[in-house]
Amino acid sequence: MRLGVLALQGAFIEHEQALNRLGADFFEIRQLADLERQSAATGAGFEGLIIPGGESTVQGKLLQDLGLFQPIRELILGGLPVFGTCAGLLLLAEQISNDQRRHLATMHITAVRNAYGRQLGSFYTEQEFKGLGKIPMTFIRAPYIASVGDNVEILAKVDGKIVAAREDKQLVCAFHPELNNSPEYNDAVHAYFLRMINE
Ligand code: GLN
Repeated sequence: MRLGVLALQGAFIEHEQALNRLGADFFEIRQLADLERQSAATGAGFEGLIIPGGESTVQGKLLQDLGLFQPIRELILGGLPVFGTCAGLLLLAEQISNDQRRHLATMHITAVRNAYGRQLGSFYTEQEFKGLGKIPMTFIRAPYIASVGDNVEILAKVDGKIVAAREDKQLVCAFHPELNNSPEYNDAVHAYFLRMINE
């Protein structure tokens, strides 16, 4: 199995480390040529995409400037499994309630950006994730999901706010699973995504 990791900005290296720990192969997407080379080399292309945390506005602009926006959007709409964390969630959200901008907008969720205010900008908690039990959750200037469409499955909530969800082959987390690598945790959310790809 080979995954593409969007490597324009933000915490992509930590995702790559999680994939390494799970023994999954990946390549970095920094420009259009990376996508094209991958499709040409393997014919089938690749099996999944990770969009990391960082700044959604910066990543959104770079996707446009680099000509990656349409090809990536079409791959996702065509069924390529995608996993977005934090800013990645914002890039996939159909709506952002407190921002005019919308980006790839492939997932039927409405997100609230920088939703926890200044004081609670960053925090750590351990909460239930559907099917995985209690897992560590690190939030950094995170969004949450205010509402979801009919086909969206809610996977985790913190203080009543939705922080993880899935729609078909799209998975999003408001927190940063790639920043937790204790042996007890064992990259459970990344492993969940790899199972989603194989379903
Ligand atoms: N606040 C960032 C944004 O709006 C997201 C933060 C993160 O990815 N850790 O894009």
